[in-house]
Amino acid sequence: AADAILRRQRARESSARTYARSFPVVPARAYGTTIEGADGRRYLDCLSGAGTLALGHNHPVVIEAVKRTVESGAPLHVLDLATPEKDEFTDALFATLPPVFAERARVHFCGPAGTDAVEAALKLAQTATGRHGLLAFTGAYHGMTAGALAVSGGVAVKRPVSGIAADVTRLPYPYAYRCPFGVGGERGAELSAAYTERLLDDPNGGVVPPAAMILEAVQGEGGVVPAPDGWLRAMRRITAERGIPLIVDEVQTGVGRTGAFWAVEHSGIVPDVMVLSKAIGGSLPLAVIVYREEYDRWSPGAHTGTFRGNTLAMAAGAATLRYVAREGLAERAAEVGARMTARLDALRAELPAIGDVRGRGLMIGVELVDPEGAPDACGARPPAPGTADRVRAACLERGLIVELGGRYDSTVRLLPPLVIGDEEVEAVLDRLADAIDAVTG
Ligand code: PMP
Repeated sequence: AADAILRRQRARESSARTYARSFPVVPARAYGTTIEGADGRRYLDCLSGAGTLALGHNHPVVIEAVKRTVESGAPLHVLDLATPEKDEFTDALFATLPPVFAERARVHFCGPAGTDAVEAALKLAQTATGRHGLLAFTGAYHGMTAGALAVSGGVAVKRPVSGIAADVTRLPYPYAYRCPFGVGGERGAELSAAYTERLLDDPNGGVVPPAAMILEAVQGEGGVVPAPDGWLRAMRRITAERGIPLIVDEVQTGVGRTGAFWAVEHSGIVPDVMVLSKAIGGSLPLAVIVYREEYDRWSPGAHTGTFRGNTLAMAAGAATLRYVAREGLAERAAEVGARMTARLDALRAELPAIGDVRGRGLMIGVELVDPEGAPDACGARPPAPGTADRVRAACLERGLIVELGGRYDSTVRLLPPLVIGDEEVEAVLDRLADAIDAVTG
């Protein structure tokens, strides 16, 4: 039956689908870190709905919140009317935000996906400043709608709609392993900041007067690339000095994932706009922007949409935010993530195809390279296109679901639920090491 389902869906569904191709699994049940296929096979899920499942699959806290709401008879869809669920969610969300930001912030409920919130953030900044330019980074990923694509870095997916990026100035993200300036580490990040500053002040630099700078504190789809805290503080200073709103996209980094409730907490920067989705809905679709109240210059109806928050997602989201905070799951992500990263880093000595291990908390990337290739000026070996894809398939055979990202899709990404157990952590690392060894050894 599972084979028939896979065959039928492949025949009928859009060819843009990717996951169903890489994971020919028909999930029947799921709990915690585990997905059980219709054939009874079990998989450890380190994709977690692309980082959505902070509490894993079907956590009792989420199920209880959804059940309670359904049974209460609350309307499941009322556009943007005031509801107790929205009130609860907003309270829970604001309680987690950096206090200096939350004190004077507004929330705008967007369409259900991260990309909808990115569009809202760009439009808000353009509305508030009256300018159109956008500053964005190499390797960035912000979504698949026109504005979000324009500020994303991967050209392959956006080539068919090129032309939408006319107002975007692309700046070098401080990717230490393959540094855009041929210098790794902190020095590369300093050069990136210095270049940004000079370019913005160059009247002939071709920069369209910026309405905003948008960035991820740790690039996710871009290959799990954490920006150094000093660089983030430099971006905050550079934008503040020039009156440019700073939009931080925490769609993937939020809700404890990086070892702090929000990734901005590591550097202490206070953004002007935060873009939030994925885990905030506790596995149901929800996306919001939170921004400084001075930017609230929309005219009524300036940015609407039919699905402006969903009652069930707000209930599941409020329960998730409260649970992550109460149980200290961000701290747990920091601790477990450090353990995983250290063990993966140690594996580099045995498995030379591992070029780089990096990440923050439970957002971990393992960049696979050609171990025979000569290292570049930063010490990075050349990419080995295709290797990571074979490793992903080998992981699946061993009952482990991982995702790829980054340049040449050569980074294996691990985004396990924050509640992953210690034994599961060991099993994930064993299976991944074995898969890398089998493919490259
Ligand atoms: N921003 C970031 C940082 C993301 O990682 C993603 C999704 N991977 C998005 C935006 C877009 O979110 P969605 O897929 O829900 O549109």
